[in-house]
Amino acid sequence: MSENAIKPILGKYIITGKIVLKTGTRIGGTDTGISIGGIDNPIIRNPLTGEPYIPGSSLKGKMRSLLERLKKMRLDTFGSGKNAVRRHECNDINCEICRLFGSSPKTEGEKVNIPARIIVRDAHLTEESKEALESMETDVPYAEWKMENGLDRVTCHASPRTNERVPAGAEFSFEIVYTAEEKSNVETDLRNIFTALELIEDDYIGSSGSRGYGKVEFKINQMIFKSEKYYTGEEEKVLSFDVEGKTPSELKQKLPNLKG
Ligand SMILES: [Zn+2]
Repeated sequence: MSENAIKPILGKYIITGKIVLKTGTRIGGTDTGISIGGIDNPIIRNPLTGEPYIPGSSLKGKMRSLLERLKKMRLDTFGSGKNAVRRHECNDINCEICRLFGSSPKTEGEKVNIPARIIVRDAHLTEESKEALESMETDVPYAEWKMENGLDRVTCHASPRTNERVPAGAEFSFEIVYTAEEKSNVETDLRNIFTALELIEDDYIGSSGSRGYGKVEFKINQMIFKSEKYYTGEEEKVLSFDVEGKTPSELKQKLPNLKG
């Protein structure tokens, strides 16, 4: 397919649910937003409301990097020095990673841009969690402070610092939109999405995962399919699948029945 070929749309799968924090979680922000004295490592917050959220880009990046490792994809280095990152990006439109997450590698010669088939929205606190966190007695809104002690192995000098994090139990609403383009790819792509969520559950989001931060669970509420005909107005039906309360691994088992 040439770069300018029109890409067909079969329809969109919209998967919504909750991200449940099983341990305190910190997704780092900058300390320039809301001024809070004494915090070394503030979390990311909505600048208007002060509420913490999980950026869609963080979630999508984590999904991608864990899948790249699982599938042993070739990694290239992008950027240089301190900003160098290693990730997989190629110009093969049949590559399972690049067609799902997008790719625009800066290669010599032919310019290729594979648009992502998934959109991962920012995940915001659920109303219940917002209320629960508002009634919590802490020094910072919607969050807790955790003291961490860095110990110098030679001098035994301790350098305590405070980490801000969202406490365990908090729940965020997530939404993933997958645009189906070819029927033959749908099952593989959905399987990869659920596998990525499954991998995150056994990994972490945010920082300090090796110290126990950022363990999460995904609870699916709803999965619907809107066909191309739905958008053109030729059909009113939205397919809805029976997935309420399911985990990503349970959805994988149901996959052959989830394509519509
Ligand atoms: Zn690729």
